Amino acid sequence: MSTMPSTKPANSSSPHTSTPITVATGDGIGPEIMDATLRVLEAAGARLDIEKIDIGEKVYLSGQTSGICADAWESLRRTRVFLKAPITTPQGGGYKSLNVTIRKTLGLYANVRPCSTYSPFVATKHPNMDLVIIRENEEDTYAGIEHQQTDEVYQCLKLITHPGCERICRYAFEYAAAHGRKKVTCFTKDNIMKLTDGLFHRVFDEVGAEYPNIEKEHWIIDIGAARLADTPEMFDVIVMPNLYGDVVSDIAAQISGSVGLAGSANIGEGIAMFEAIHGSAPPIAGQNVANPSGLLHAALQMLVHIGQPDVAESIHNAWLTTIEEGIHTFDIFNEANSTKQVGTREFADAVIERLGRRPSTLTPVSYAAAHDHPRPAGRVTPTKSLRKATIGVDVFLHWRGQPNDLGAQLEAVSCDTLRIKMITNRGVKVWPDGFSETFCTDHWRCRFVQPDQKAIAHADITGLLNRIAEAGLDFIKTENLCTFDGQRAYSLGQGE
Ligand code: NAD
Repeated sequence: MSTMPSTKPANSSSPHTSTPITVATGDGIGPEIMDATLRVLEAAGARLDIEKIDIGEKVYLSGQTSGICADAWESLRRTRVFLKAPITTPQGGGYKSLNVTIRKTLGLYANVRPCSTYSPFVATKHPNMDLVIIRENEEDTYAGIEHQQTDEVYQCLKLITHPGCERICRYAFEYAAAHGRKKVTCFTKDNIMKLTDGLFHRVFDEVGAEYPNIEKEHWIIDIGAARLADTPEMFDVIVMPNLYGDVVSDIAAQISGSVGLAGSANIGEGIAMFEAIHGSAPPIAGQNVANPSGLLHAALQMLVHIGQPDVAESIHNAWLTTIEEGIHTFDIFNEANSTKQVGTREFADAVIERLGRRPSTLTPVSYAAAHDHPRPAGRVTPTKSLRKATIGVDVFLHWRGQPNDLGAQLEAVSCDTLRIKMITNRGVKVWPDGFSETFCTDHWRCRFVQPDQKAIAHADITGLLNRIAEAGLDFIKTENLCTFDGQRAYSLGQGE
């Protein structure tokens, strides 16, 4: 059974002192599952000095669009350990995801999501599944930079950085090494996104070379996710960019038996947040039916993090005993293996009653060495300054009409330093030599290049933009076409 590698905060427990932690009880099922979790922690003798903060729906609706107030931030920066119940993001524009805000503001770059099965007591098609998903937590489309650019077209920027890839890939290998895991798999879609996902894959290979004793493999995310849903036992540790990790880790938790079982840790440098992987589940809130196990599992990771692995071990073994005795919440109740369906409170009571016991069929856990795990290095290789040259520009236009008409207008604004080379619509070349069958929107990417691939200046681009504006065309954005150390650093259009 996995435990967390330690990124111990300065306030790690000694055997006799309490560790300050910040707790948010959240929305929906949050208060019920947090109450159950804290009761188990207290009964097991966890040494915690709890500061409670308000975040989420109430705070959003009081006019705070981030869902969190200044005093809550102060508590988080003081304790540097956060046990958080799920929150509800109100519908409608203007409300930013609080989870994303907290992860990015506090630099919680690694989202660690262990998923194992408890067969035969929790029904699953995958009795031998025991994997850990390590999701990059700060980048990708979660930068949250979106724009409506034309009447018809909306854009979300996917940002992948070299330091971000290096930190998460190194974390994955450090995690595997610390936990005796044999293999790290990387999921990307680098057959399509050759620059962004290509970078993630390349850095995975580079960092992986530093770990000769760990097996490495890479899967394209679509077939990788299909294999995970079908044969999860073939995976061990899987690292991936943010969006894929979000989706795939919910699938992994669900096929292990219930999305209500899995906990996660969000790890940064000396600061960490622990939460269930699921949300606030409004349809079942306030009914004392939710499974508190996901949050409890997150709290176990927190106990290891703050240097109380003995308490984590005791709770985990009591939880396994409860599960194998068939005392189950509704989401994992099954006629064959359950003996009693219980509510959230009663489940916590059952775990508390079993403190001090070890499971007899499921494998008991041992956290004895958990505090010896190495500190995962968040370090990154200093980025070299590369020799950059701008050799063209993509100008995006909001325009309606036929591609050949646009091509003629753009030839008229071209000059010796920047000539129109190609127009695409949704990435498909429509000029020159486009097909009449190609469906076109009102969003055009117009590629201007220096014909001899020589470097151009910013003034060449602003001059071009002035001529485009004077021709009555509406440019909505530009992307420079660059080389770095002579290597092309942009995707090619068809036929280029
Ligand atoms: P959800 O995970 O809250 O719930 C989906 C369904 O899964 C529930 O209706 C329920 O049937 C089941 N479920 C979830 N947790 C369970 C548990 N502990 N025990 C038993 N069954 C459980 O997903 P959603 O409905 O898409 O999102 C609801 C709200 O939660 C949204 O406002 C969303 O933004 C928010 N959310 C918050 C977090 C977070 O705070 N970390 C994460 C995801 C979603």
